[in-house]
Amino acid sequence: MPEKRVKLVIGNWKMHGNRAVNAALLDALVAAGKHLPAQVRVGVCVPFPYLGQAQSALECGPVAWGVQDLSGNAADKGAFTGEVSATMAVDFGATLALAGHSERRNLCGETDGHVVDKARCALEWGLTPVVCVGETLEDREAGRTEDVIGTQLAALLEAFDVAALRQMVFAYEPVWAIGTGKSASAQQAQDVHAFLRARLREKDASLAGISLLYGGSVKPGNAAELFGQPDIDGGLIGGAALVADDFIAICHAA
Ligand code: PGA
Repeated sequence: MPEKRVKLVIGNWKMHGNRAVNAALLDALVAAGKHLPAQVRVGVCVPFPYLGQAQSALECGPVAWGVQDLSGNAADKGAFTGEVSATMAVDFGATLALAGHSERRNLCGETDGHVVDKARCALEWGLTPVVCVGETLEDREAGRTEDVIGTQLAALLEAFDVAALRQMVFAYEPVWAIGTGKSASAQQAQDVHAFLRARLREKDASLAGISLLYGGSVKPGNAAELFGQPDIDGGLIGGAALVADDFIAICHAA
């Protein structure tokens, strides 16, 4: 019997929010908490300064919280100005850590090697790494989608053993669909998810059970179709995660 894959919807707040705005959003999630579908794991990845606020609001409910990035330094403390370690995130009850979001890859020059280091730190301290992969529009138009995504995934497959990989989640986020309002079609997303799952299965049959999320302009209106695809197990949600009703509706679509 193939194992049942975990469904997940994760909000990525990016560099948004302040204490007052966050309080309203977190209150809405807390209120929605007991009605959220039991089979869907829901989480929010908040800016570092608001981890404590997320912890205070969410710690008694079903919604998990996490970070959008973390230090990839093997040391959990030290002279690394500006860095935040996995241990610090865990100290605030975080359980999720994004790694390799395209905005970090593009704006901060993060390489596949950095993504591996960050995923390793996350795993070492018990955070679930949510590793993002995705192609640019230029890559897609040049027919390089599978090459680019295959290379991003291969870095993880080479660096980790099967037991470690089984602790991870992957998110396919086409760069051209992020924050543009133009989602991949359900078929485009499914095709890439099927490709990712096949690559995982090639490494080890048990890795076919890893949750694969789609991200890029997911909204209440397209979530059900995207999440209804055979290889899509939920979503990584940016803009719509800042609007409580939209995010909750997306959770219900998973
Ligand atoms: P979006 O962002 O939903 O605003 O397109 C998704 C993401 O970047 O994770």
